[in-house]
Amino acid sequence: MSSEETFDVIVVGAGCLGVATAYYMQKNSPDKKILLVERTLAAGQANTAMSAAAVRNMFASSTNQLLTDTSIKYFEHVQKEIGYDLFFEKTGYLWLLGEDQFNHESVKVWMERMKKSGISYKVYNKDELKEMIPGLNVDFAGDEEAELMNLHEVSYGLFGADCGVLDPTRLVEYYFEEFTKISHVKPRFGVDVEKLLLEADPKLDLPGEPFVWQKKKVNGVVTDKGTYRADVVVLATGTWTNELLDPIGMDSLTKCKKRQLFVIHAEEKEELQSLLDAEGFNELGSIPFTILPSAGVYFRPQLQERGFWIGCGDKVGREYKYIQTDEDMIPESAYYEKSMYPVLSKYFPAFVGARPVNSWAGGYNYSPDRIPFVYLECGVLVVNGASGSGIMKADAMGRIADALYRGEPEAELFGGKKIPSTTLSIKDRDVEVESVII
Ligand SMILES: Cc1cc2nc3c(=O)[nH]c(=O)nc-3n(C[C@H](O)[C@H](O)[C@H](O)COP(=O)(O)OP(=O)(O)OC[C@H]3O[C@@H](n4cnc5c(N)ncnc54)[C@H](O)[C@@H]3O)c2cc1C
Repeated sequence: MSSEETFDVIVVGAGCLGVATAYYMQKNSPDKKILLVERTLAAGQANTAMSAAAVRNMFASSTNQLLTDTSIKYFEHVQKEIGYDLFFEKTGYLWLLGEDQFNHESVKVWMERMKKSGISYKVYNKDELKEMIPGLNVDFAGDEEAELMNLHEVSYGLFGADCGVLDPTRLVEYYFEEFTKISHVKPRFGVDVEKLLLEADPKLDLPGEPFVWQKKKVNGVVTDKGTYRADVVVLATGTWTNELLDPIGMDSLTKCKKRQLFVIHAEEKEELQSLLDAEGFNELGSIPFTILPSAGVYFRPQLQERGFWIGCGDKVGREYKYIQTDEDMIPESAYYEKSMYPVLSKYFPAFVGARPVNSWAGGYNYSPDRIPFVYLECGVLVVNGASGSGIMKADAMGRIADALYRGEPEAELFGGKKIPSTTLSIKDRDVEVESVII
């Protein structure tokens, strides 16, 4: 039997963006009844759990720089001052770049904008990199295979010391626990939101409304457990947002691309251990999160597991999908073997012969300009389009969503920096296109 209940706000989706948003909304509107609903059985089980959970403030657009820099500083604050361990480790981020890549106009703009925003970075030259990274192959002279594979030689390294990696589950737990401490309504799991409740505003109770001449507003959600009404419905539904917005004729402007991670343990090979323990970049004595100059291949050091997570931000050749399906969650071992491994092992021969012990896949939720969306329209507050970097923007996006909900013209981010609340909207968007996407 279906039931109907009423709340002030319903937050759909308990990934990192949903829990951060729910927390800030409840914190700043303590009297409001905020219901968090999620179709899986726990918070942070979807793309948040699939992420590499690396965090960087090294973006080309000043908006992304601000969103990530303030979020990362908040994560540090949570870990150091609040004492909640997010397993945040400042490994740093290292882009290995060829001569042409380093001298490209887009990299110049990227570095200039970082300087202007006070984001610190360092440039290493080839000799320094060779010395610091055991076994790094920087030049492919006479290597026909490398030429065939379009591999760039390594000439420079662009390094950001304030970047790092964390545990996405801990991050979600932190916001979720803080939210549940102050919320009036227990979050509900295993609840599938089937559609948004679009109604005439005001309702005239005429059969067949809403008609074209009526204003319309989303007044809640229809779920498999009943209908829930609310003044505002937050959609933090990531790659599934189109499923809910399309039927009511709202365009989320985002689409999805499959992304995969493969785990290699360092233990079985001495060369891999030396690579993992590369000295000189950070206080941990570890190799940074490293992006190779070719094919979008990258790796994240996983210090607890003593290994690497290998990923690839492939571009042309990997289809965009409108909505993420179960099939998109299946990793492809051939993709590692035939696409990533040949590139990886050319630059880092330490990986020769190493085989993944685990793998998983998820989806990126891309916006056209690779900057997230946070906007309130017709009673729906959309928080999505993080374009593969939602963990590192979660705190700022949650604060902006909350400011929009309260009708504040500006959102205050961690550290006191302010941003107009409509910066990430569709209608009043005021952002530079992001070019540094992994
Ligand atoms: C392989 C990979 C690597 C990544 N690496 C990084 C990285 O290094 N750093 C970084 O910052 N980001 C990274 N990302 C991106 C990051 O994971 C996402 O940006 C982030 O998780 C988005 O958060 P979210 O809350 O929108 O999404 P999700 O965690 O997917 O949450 C959306 C939630 O909504 C729920 N939901 C959807 N529809 C409904 C419905 N109809 N009813 C009820 N519930 C619903 C889902 O079940 C889900 O729990 C990576 C992603 C992948 C796949």
